Amino acid sequence: MQHTPRKRFGQNFLHDPHFVRRCLEAIAPRPEDTLVEIGPGLGALTAPLLEKVHHLHVVEIDRDLAADLRRRFPAERLTVHEGDALRFDFASLGPDLRVVGNLPYNISTPLLFHLAAFGDTLRDLHVMLQKEVVARMAATPSSPAYGRLSVMLQYRFAVKPLFDVPGGAFRPPPKVTSSFVRLAPLRPLPHPARNERIFATMVASAFSTRRKTLRNALRSHLEAADFAALSIPPTLRAENLSVADFVRLADYVASRHG
Ligand code: SAM
Repeated sequence: MQHTPRKRFGQNFLHDPHFVRRCLEAIAPRPEDTLVEIGPGLGALTAPLLEKVHHLHVVEIDRDLAADLRRRFPAERLTVHEGDALRFDFASLGPDLRVVGNLPYNISTPLLFHLAAFGDTLRDLHVMLQKEVVARMAATPSSPAYGRLSVMLQYRFAVKPLFDVPGGAFRPPPKVTSSFVRLAPLRPLPHPARNERIFATMVASAFSTRRKTLRNALRSHLEAADFAALSIPPTLRAENLSVADFVRLADYVASRHG
């Protein structure tokens, strides 16, 4: 169908068959998989996925694209959920869910946080994102790209960047290079926080102002004596702490809340 790409929906459609094939190889779909694709668009991944699985769910916000997919594929094979993936209840599709997608880059961070909340019900995620975002997801402590996104995702997932995809593989071509990345939930969690809400708050506060020391960034949560009790120097910065360190900080604060 004729479709003018909509910038507000982050529409850059994959058209290079070489990279479609590589995505499929990485996903390695099996017939019985429960699989959902976020943002199927014109169906570059949808059609080859449907050759491998009995049934596929897709979540697409663009009404015209959703209608086109309903026309092209029978409802017994493809369920089209027309709506916003940021509000979609992924748990409603059942346990052991596999998530794939060439994600709209303009909402990549909130979408990753939304998906992380379903960590317990997911088998894995394979998503295409800006290379720079994937670098942040996979970054290790004290490296320049390490930040809130790295900590929050690595708390729950093993993050594995797989391969880069040049802008020219998409229409229209984005200005940036993309990367395909796999996230596999860690089971059991290596460092489970006593209270995940407090953990998330501490991580967000610690990274809220990048150049600040922990003492300043966490002033409203921790005093000098608390850092001493934790054996964490208050002169460090958030980017120096591992996921396990953040969990220790958060558990300490949680213990005071009873
Ligand atoms: N998967 C297709 C491909 O690889 O060619 C399209 C990828 S394009 C980067 C992103 C897709 O996500 C578009 O189809 C867009 O309409 C859809 N989209 C954008 N925002 C969305 C949202 N909040 N919820 C669901 N789909 C969304």
